[in-house]
Amino acid sequence: MLKKIPLRIRFTLVASLFLLVSCVTLTLLSNMSAVHMMEAVALLPSMKDGSTPILQLEPAQPVEEPYYQVFQQKTTVATILIVLAGSIATYFAAGYVLKPIRDLSCEVQKRNVENLGTPIELPQSADEVRQLTISFNQMMEDLQRSFLLQKEFSANAAHELRTPLAIMRAKLDVFMLSENENPETQKMIDAMSQQLERLSKLIEDLLWFSKDLPLEKKTRVMLYPLFCDVAEELSSVAKEKEIEIQIQQTNEFVLGQDRLLERVFYNLLENAVKYSPPQTQVSVTVQRERDFLRIQVIDQGEGIPEVCRSAVFEPFFRVDKSRSRAIGGNGLGLAVCKKILERHHASIAVRPNHPNGSIFEVIFPS
Ligand code: ADP
Repeated sequence: MLKKIPLRIRFTLVASLFLLVSCVTLTLLSNMSAVHMMEAVALLPSMKDGSTPILQLEPAQPVEEPYYQVFQQKTTVATILIVLAGSIATYFAAGYVLKPIRDLSCEVQKRNVENLGTPIELPQSADEVRQLTISFNQMMEDLQRSFLLQKEFSANAAHELRTPLAIMRAKLDVFMLSENENPETQKMIDAMSQQLERLSKLIEDLLWFSKDLPLEKKTRVMLYPLFCDVAEELSSVAKEKEIEIQIQQTNEFVLGQDRLLERVFYNLLENAVKYSPPQTQVSVTVQRERDFLRIQVIDQGEGIPEVCRSAVFEPFFRVDKSRSRAIGGNGLGLAVCKKILERHHASIAVRPNHPNGSIFEVIFPS
Protein backbone atom coordinates (compact mmCIF):
# COMPACT_ATOMS: atom_id res chain seq x y z
CA MET A 1 0.00 0.00 0.00
CA LEU A 2 2.85 2.33 0.96
CA LYS A 3 4.37 1.88 -2.52
CA LYS A 4 1.39 3.64 -4.12
CA ILE A 5 1.93 6.81 -2.08
CA PRO A 6 4.18 9.56 -3.56
CA LEU A 7 7.77 9.52 -2.34
CA ARG A 8 7.42 12.83 -0.51
CA ILE A 9 4.41 11.66 1.56
CA ARG A 10 6.06 8.29 2.17
CA PHE A 11 9.18 9.99 3.45
CA THR A 12 7.08 12.25 5.72
CA LEU A 13 5.05 9.33 7.08
CA VAL A 14 8.12 7.25 7.90
CA ALA A 15 9.91 10.19 9.53
CA SER A 16 6.77 11.12 11.52
CA LEU A 17 6.46 7.55 12.74
CA PHE A 18 10.05 7.58 13.97
CA LEU A 19 9.47 10.94 15.60
CA LEU A 20 6.30 9.69 17.29
CA VAL A 21 7.95 6.55 18.66
CA SER A 22 10.98 8.51 19.94
CA CYS A 23 8.84 11.25 21.52
CA VAL A 24 6.43 8.84 23.18
CA THR A 25 9.34 6.78 24.58
CA LEU A 26 11.04 9.90 25.85
CA THR A 27 7.81 11.16 27.43
CA LEU A 28 7.14 7.85 29.14
CA LEU A 29 10.71 7.72 30.46
CA SER A 30 10.58 11.30 31.70
CA ASN A 31 7.18 10.69 33.32
CA MET A 32 8.52 7.63 35.08
CA SER A 33 11.64 9.40 36.27
CA ALA A 34 9.54 12.39 37.36
CA VAL A 35 7.39 10.13 39.54
CA HIS A 36 10.51 8.61 41.07
CA MET A 37 12.02 12.01 41.70
CA MET A 38 8.86 13.37 43.28
CA GLU A 39 8.50 10.32 45.52
CA ALA A 40 12.15 10.55 46.52
CA VAL A 41 11.87 14.23 47.33
CA ALA A 42 8.61 13.69 49.20
CA LEU A 43 10.11 10.96 51.35
CA LEU A 44 13.35 12.88 52.01
CA PRO A 45 14.00 12.98 55.83
CA SER A 46 15.04 16.24 57.49
CA MET A 47 18.52 17.08 56.35
CA LYS A 48 21.36 15.87 58.52
CA ASP A 49 22.94 19.31 58.86
CA GLY A 50 19.66 20.59 60.31
CA SER A 51 18.70 22.62 57.23
CA THR A 52 15.16 22.38 55.91
CA PRO A 53 14.56 20.27 52.76
CA ILE A 54 13.46 22.19 49.69
CA LEU A 55 10.11 20.44 49.58
CA GLN A 56 8.69 19.90 53.03
CA LEU A 57 6.08 17.15 53.02
CA GLU A 58 4.77 14.78 55.66
CA PRO A 59 7.25 11.79 55.82
CA ALA A 60 5.04 9.00 54.43
CA GLN A 61 2.81 11.11 52.22
CA PRO A 62 2.64 9.92 48.55
CA VAL A 63 3.17 12.25 45.57
CA GLU A 64 0.31 14.67 45.24
CA GLU A 65 -1.90 13.63 42.26
CA PRO A 66 -2.56 17.12 40.73
CA TYR A 67 1.20 17.86 40.39
CA TYR A 68 1.76 14.63 38.57
CA GLN A 69 -1.30 15.05 36.34
CA VAL A 70 -0.26 18.57 35.30
CA PHE A 71 3.22 17.31 34.50
CA GLN A 72 1.78 14.41 32.46
CA GLN A 73 -0.61 16.67 30.53
CA LYS A 74 2.17 19.12 29.71
CA THR A 75 4.50 16.41 28.43
CA THR A 76 1.70 14.85 26.32
CA VAL A 77 0.84 18.20 24.71
CA ALA A 78 4.55 18.87 24.13
CA THR A 79 4.91 15.43 22.49
CA ILE A 80 1.95 16.04 20.15
CA LEU A 81 3.25 19.49 19.23
CA ILE A 82 6.77 18.23 18.58
CA VAL A 83 5.49 15.36 16.40
CA LEU A 84 3.22 17.73 14.43
CA ALA A 85 5.90 20.36 13.93
CA GLY A 86 8.43 17.66 13.04
CA SER A 87 6.07 16.10 10.45
CA ILE A 88 5.36 19.46 8.81
CA ALA A 89 9.07 20.29 8.76
CA THR A 90 9.85 16.85 7.30
CA TYR A 91 7.19 17.35 4.59
CA PHE A 92 8.81 20.61 3.45
CA ALA A 93 12.32 19.24 3.83
CA ALA A 94 11.35 16.18 1.75
CA GLY A 95 9.93 18.51 -0.92
CA TYR A 96 13.20 20.41 -1.01
CA VAL A 97 15.35 17.28 -1.09
CA LEU A 98 13.21 15.59 -3.76
CA LYS A 99 12.90 18.68 -5.99
CA PRO A 100 15.79 17.68 -8.31
CA ILE A 101 14.11 14.29 -8.85
CA ARG A 102 10.80 16.02 -9.61
CA ASP A 103 12.53 18.35 -12.09
CA LEU A 104 14.26 15.40 -13.73
CA SER A 105 10.97 13.50 -14.01
CA CYS A 106 9.31 16.55 -15.67
CA GLU A 107 12.13 16.76 -18.21
CA VAL A 108 11.93 13.02 -18.93
CA GLN A 109 8.18 13.31 -19.54
CA LYS A 110 8.81 15.99 -22.17
CA ARG A 111 10.99 13.62 -24.22
CA ASN A 112 9.44 12.10 -27.34
CA VAL A 113 10.55 10.82 -30.75
CA GLU A 114 11.13 14.38 -31.93
CA ASN A 115 13.52 15.50 -29.19
CA LEU A 116 15.22 12.26 -28.15
CA GLY A 117 18.64 13.70 -28.92
CA THR A 118 18.27 16.92 -26.88
CA PRO A 119 20.11 16.23 -23.62
CA ILE A 120 18.61 17.20 -20.27
CA GLU A 121 20.53 20.01 -18.58
CA LEU A 122 22.78 18.67 -15.81
CA PRO A 123 22.02 19.92 -12.29
CA GLN A 124 24.72 21.97 -10.50
CA SER A 125 24.92 19.49 -7.61
CA ALA A 126 27.37 16.58 -7.64
CA ASP A 127 24.92 14.03 -6.26
CA GLU A 128 23.05 10.92 -7.43
CA VAL A 129 20.54 13.00 -9.44
CA ARG A 130 23.36 14.38 -11.57
CA GLN A 131 24.62 10.84 -12.15
CA LEU A 132 21.09 9.71 -13.04
CA THR A 133 20.74 12.60 -15.52
CA ILE A 134 24.08 11.70 -17.15
CA SER A 135 23.00 8.05 -17.49
CA PHE A 136 19.60 9.08 -18.88
CA ASN A 137 21.18 11.39 -21.47
CA GLN A 138 23.54 8.61 -22.51
CA MET A 139 20.65 6.18 -22.88
CA MET A 140 18.64 8.66 -24.98
CA GLU A 141 21.67 9.29 -27.22
CA ASP A 142 22.08 5.53 -27.83
CA LEU A 143 18.37 5.19 -28.42
CA GLN A 144 18.31 8.00 -30.93
CA ARG A 145 21.32 6.58 -32.76
CA SER A 146 19.65 3.19 -33.15
CA PHE A 147 16.36 4.86 -34.05
CA LEU A 148 18.03 6.86 -36.82
CA LEU A 149 19.89 3.79 -38.05
CA GLN A 150 16.67 1.85 -38.24
CA LYS A 151 14.92 4.69 -40.06
CA GLU A 152 17.80 5.11 -42.47
CA PHE A 153 17.86 1.37 -43.08
CA SER A 154 14.19 1.14 -44.03
CA ALA A 155 14.40 4.32 -46.14
CA ASN A 156 17.47 3.00 -48.00
CA ALA A 157 15.99 -0.48 -48.41
CA ALA A 158 12.75 0.96 -49.80
CA HIS A 159 14.67 3.29 -52.09
CA GLU A 160 16.91 0.51 -53.41
CA LEU A 161 13.92 -1.74 -54.04
CA ARG A 162 12.18 0.88 -56.13
CA THR A 163 14.41 0.61 -59.22
CA PRO A 164 14.35 -3.20 -59.71
CA LEU A 165 10.63 -3.11 -59.07
CA ALA A 166 10.08 -0.46 -61.72
CA ILE A 167 12.09 -2.56 -64.20
CA MET A 168 10.06 -5.68 -63.38
CA ARG A 169 6.86 -3.68 -63.75
CA ALA A 170 7.93 -2.40 -67.18
CA LYS A 171 8.93 -5.89 -68.37
CA LEU A 172 5.68 -7.37 -67.17
CA ASP A 173 3.71 -4.63 -68.91
CA VAL A 174 5.49 -5.46 -72.18
CA PHE A 175 4.76 -9.13 -71.61
CA MET A 176 1.11 -8.35 -70.96
CA LEU A 177 0.84 -6.47 -74.26
CA SER A 178 1.85 -9.54 -76.24
CA GLU A 179 -1.02 -11.89 -77.03
CA ASN A 180 -1.22 -14.84 -74.69
CA GLU A 181 -3.16 -17.83 -75.82
CA ASN A 182 -2.44 -19.97 -72.80
CA PRO A 183 -4.93 -19.16 -70.00
CA GLU A 184 -2.53 -20.56 -67.38
CA THR A 185 0.18 -18.10 -68.45
CA GLN A 186 -2.33 -15.27 -68.40
CA LYS A 187 -3.40 -16.23 -64.87
CA MET A 188 0.23 -16.23 -63.78
CA ILE A 189 0.87 -12.83 -65.31
CA ASP A 190 -2.19 -11.39 -63.58
CA ALA A 191 -1.08 -12.80 -60.23
CA MET A 192 2.42 -11.40 -60.71
CA SER A 193 1.02 -8.04 -61.66
CA GLN A 194 -1.15 -7.99 -58.55
CA GLN A 195 1.77 -8.89 -56.27
CA LEU A 196 3.97 -6.27 -57.93
CA GLU A 197 1.26 -3.72 -57.26
CA ARG A 198 1.22 -4.68 -53.59
CA LEU A 199 4.99 -4.51 -53.35
CA SER A 200 5.04 -1.06 -54.95
CA LYS A 201 2.48 0.17 -52.45
CA LEU A 202 4.40 -1.29 -49.52
CA ILE A 203 7.63 0.36 -50.71
CA GLU A 204 5.85 3.65 -51.27
CA ASP A 205 4.35 3.54 -47.74
CA LEU A 206 7.71 2.51 -46.23
CA LEU A 207 9.33 5.50 -47.88
CA TRP A 208 6.64 7.78 -46.54
CA PHE A 209 6.95 6.32 -43.09
CA SER A 210 10.71 6.47 -42.83
CA LYS A 211 11.39 9.83 -44.42
CA ASP A 212 11.59 13.06 -42.48
CA LEU A 213 8.75 15.37 -43.27
CA PRO A 214 9.90 18.96 -43.19
CA LEU A 215 7.10 21.44 -42.81
CA GLU A 216 8.74 24.72 -43.72
CA LYS A 217 6.31 25.77 -46.39
CA LYS A 218 2.92 25.87 -44.78
CA THR A 219 0.21 27.14 -47.05
CA ARG A 220 -3.56 27.48 -46.94
CA VAL A 221 -4.97 24.15 -48.01
CA MET A 222 -8.63 24.40 -49.06
CA LEU A 223 -10.32 21.26 -47.83
CA TYR A 224 -13.21 20.83 -50.25
CA PRO A 225 -11.10 20.74 -53.47
CA LEU A 226 -8.61 18.42 -51.73
CA PHE A 227 -11.33 15.94 -50.71
CA CYS A 228 -12.85 16.09 -54.22
CA ASP A 229 -9.47 15.29 -55.82
CA VAL A 230 -9.00 12.31 -53.50
CA ALA A 231 -12.55 11.07 -54.15
CA GLU A 232 -11.93 11.38 -57.88
CA GLU A 233 -8.78 9.26 -57.58
CA LEU A 234 -10.72 6.58 -55.75
CA SER A 235 -13.81 6.77 -57.92
CA SER A 236 -13.08 3.66 -59.99
CA VAL A 237 -12.64 1.44 -56.89
CA ALA A 238 -15.72 3.00 -55.29
CA LYS A 239 -17.74 2.51 -58.46
CA GLU A 240 -16.75 -1.15 -58.60
CA LYS A 241 -18.25 -1.67 -55.14
CA GLU A 242 -21.13 0.75 -55.81
CA ILE A 243 -19.98 2.85 -52.88
CA GLU A 244 -21.12 6.45 -52.87
CA ILE A 245 -18.61 9.02 -51.60
CA GLN A 246 -20.32 12.11 -50.18
CA ILE A 247 -18.28 15.21 -49.46
CA GLN A 248 -19.67 18.08 -47.45
CA GLN A 249 -19.27 21.39 -49.24
CA THR A 250 -17.11 23.71 -47.17
CA ASN A 251 -14.95 26.82 -47.40
CA GLU A 252 -12.77 25.75 -44.49
CA PHE A 253 -9.00 25.48 -44.89
CA VAL A 254 -6.05 24.37 -42.81
CA LEU A 255 -2.42 25.47 -42.77
CA GLY A 256 -0.03 22.82 -43.99
CA GLN A 257 1.44 21.04 -46.97
CA ASP A 258 -1.18 20.01 -49.50
CA ARG A 259 0.81 17.02 -50.77
CA LEU A 260 1.10 15.57 -47.26
CA LEU A 261 -2.53 16.30 -46.36
CA GLU A 262 -3.68 14.76 -49.58
CA ARG A 263 -1.85 11.59 -48.56
CA VAL A 264 -3.64 11.55 -45.20
CA PHE A 265 -7.14 11.87 -46.65
CA TYR A 266 -6.31 9.52 -49.51
CA ASN A 267 -5.37 6.83 -46.96
CA LEU A 268 -8.48 7.47 -44.85
CA LEU A 269 -10.88 7.46 -47.77
CA GLU A 270 -9.16 4.50 -49.40
CA ASN A 271 -9.54 2.51 -46.15
CA ALA A 272 -13.18 3.56 -45.84
CA VAL A 273 -13.87 2.25 -49.35
CA LYS A 274 -11.63 -0.82 -48.90
CA TYR A 275 -13.17 -1.98 -45.62
CA SER A 276 -16.82 -1.26 -46.51
CA PRO A 277 -19.27 -3.72 -48.04
CA PRO A 278 -20.72 -2.91 -51.46
CA GLN A 279 -23.64 -0.50 -51.82
CA THR A 280 -22.81 1.53 -48.74
CA GLN A 281 -21.94 5.16 -48.20
CA VAL A 282 -18.71 6.91 -47.26
CA SER A 283 -18.92 10.54 -46.20
CA VAL A 284 -16.55 13.33 -45.28
CA THR A 285 -17.78 16.09 -42.98
CA VAL A 286 -16.13 19.28 -41.71
CA GLN A 287 -17.17 21.17 -38.58
CA ARG A 288 -15.67 24.36 -37.23
CA GLU A 289 -15.70 24.44 -33.41
CA ARG A 290 -14.61 27.31 -31.18
CA ASP A 291 -10.92 26.42 -31.07
CA PHE A 292 -10.53 23.54 -33.47
CA LEU A 293 -11.61 22.13 -36.81
CA ARG A 294 -13.09 18.64 -36.91
CA ILE A 295 -12.93 16.48 -40.03
CA GLN A 296 -14.69 13.12 -40.05
CA VAL A 297 -14.40 10.27 -42.52
CA ILE A 298 -17.42 8.07 -41.89
CA ASP A 299 -18.08 4.62 -43.31
CA GLN A 300 -20.62 1.84 -42.86
CA GLY A 301 -18.12 -1.00 -42.88
CA GLU A 302 -17.28 -3.65 -40.31
CA GLY A 303 -15.90 -1.17 -37.80
CA ILE A 304 -12.85 -1.66 -35.59
CA PRO A 305 -13.06 -3.55 -32.26
CA GLU A 306 -12.49 -1.34 -29.22
CA VAL A 307 -9.26 -3.09 -28.19
CA CYS A 308 -7.67 -2.31 -31.56
CA ARG A 309 -8.71 1.34 -31.84
CA SER A 310 -5.43 2.87 -30.77
CA ALA A 311 -3.24 0.09 -32.16
CA VAL A 312 -4.44 0.66 -35.75
CA PHE A 313 -2.23 3.76 -35.83
CA GLU A 314 0.88 1.68 -35.08
CA PRO A 315 2.98 0.59 -38.08
CA PHE A 316 2.14 -2.86 -39.49
CA PHE A 317 -0.85 -3.38 -37.22
CA ARG A 318 -3.86 -4.96 -38.91
CA VAL A 319 -7.08 -5.97 -37.20
CA ASP A 320 -7.47 -9.03 -39.37
CA LYS A 321 -4.19 -9.85 -41.09
CA SER A 322 -5.60 -12.25 -43.66
CA ARG A 323 -8.53 -9.97 -44.59
CA SER A 324 -6.26 -6.94 -44.85
CA ARG A 325 -3.67 -8.83 -46.93
CA ALA A 326 -6.39 -10.13 -49.25
CA ILE A 327 -7.61 -6.57 -49.73
CA GLY A 328 -4.06 -5.38 -50.40
CA GLY A 329 -3.23 -3.69 -47.10
CA ASN A 330 0.16 -3.56 -45.44
CA GLY A 331 -0.67 -1.88 -42.11
CA LEU A 332 1.25 1.32 -42.78
CA GLY A 333 -1.45 3.65 -44.08
CA LEU A 334 -2.79 4.91 -40.74
CA ALA A 335 0.71 5.13 -39.23
CA VAL A 336 1.66 7.43 -42.10
CA CYS A 337 -1.51 9.50 -41.47
CA LYS A 338 -0.67 9.86 -37.80
CA LYS A 339 2.90 10.87 -38.55
CA ILE A 340 1.88 13.53 -41.07
CA LEU A 341 -0.88 14.88 -38.81
CA GLU A 342 1.49 15.14 -35.83
CA ARG A 343 3.69 17.31 -38.02
CA HIS A 344 0.66 19.56 -38.50
CA HIS A 345 -0.05 19.56 -34.72
CA ALA A 346 -3.27 17.74 -35.52
CA SER A 347 -4.56 14.54 -33.96
CA ILE A 348 -6.41 11.49 -35.25
CA ALA A 349 -8.66 8.98 -33.52
CA VAL A 350 -11.26 6.41 -34.46
CA ARG A 351 -14.63 5.66 -32.92
CA PRO A 352 -17.54 3.46 -33.92
CA ASN A 353 -20.25 4.61 -36.27
CA HIS A 354 -23.81 3.52 -35.45
CA PRO A 355 -25.26 1.06 -36.29
CA ASN A 356 -22.06 -0.07 -38.01
CA GLY A 357 -18.81 1.27 -39.40
CA SER A 358 -16.08 3.61 -38.23
CA ILE A 359 -15.61 7.34 -37.85
CA PHE A 360 -12.04 8.54 -38.31
CA GLU A 361 -11.82 11.96 -36.72
CA VAL A 362 -9.03 14.44 -37.46
CA ILE A 363 -8.72 17.52 -35.24
CA PHE A 364 -6.79 20.59 -36.38
CA PRO A 365 -6.21 23.25 -33.74
CA SER A 366 -7.33 26.72 -34.80
P1 ADP B 1 -3.84 -1.33 -44.30
O1 ADP B 1 -2.89 -1.04 -45.40
O2 ADP B 1 -3.77 -2.73 -43.78
O3 ADP B 1 -5.22 -0.88 -44.61
P2 ADP B 1 -3.83 0.79 -42.38
O4 ADP B 1 -2.73 1.30 -41.50
O5 ADP B 1 -4.43 1.74 -43.32
O6 ADP B 1 -3.26 -0.47 -43.08
O7 ADP B 1 -4.96 0.24 -41.43
C1 ADP B 1 -4.62 -0.60 -40.34
C2 ADP B 1 -5.74 -1.56 -40.06
O8 ADP B 1 -6.85 -0.85 -39.53
C3 ADP B 1 -6.26 -2.25 -41.29
O9 ADP B 1 -5.55 -3.43 -41.54
C4 ADP B 1 -7.70 -2.56 -40.93
O10 ADP B 1 -7.74 -3.77 -40.20
C5 ADP B 1 -8.07 -1.43 -39.98
N1 ADP B 1 -8.84 -0.36 -40.66
C6 ADP B 1 -8.37 0.80 -41.16
N2 ADP B 1 -9.37 1.56 -41.64
C7 ADP B 1 -10.50 0.87 -41.45
C8 ADP B 1 -11.88 1.12 -41.71
N3 ADP B 1 -12.30 2.24 -42.30
N4 ADP B 1 -12.78 0.15 -41.35
C9 ADP B 1 -12.38 -0.99 -40.75
N5 ADP B 1 -11.10 -1.27 -40.46
C10 ADP B 1 -10.16 -0.37 -40.79
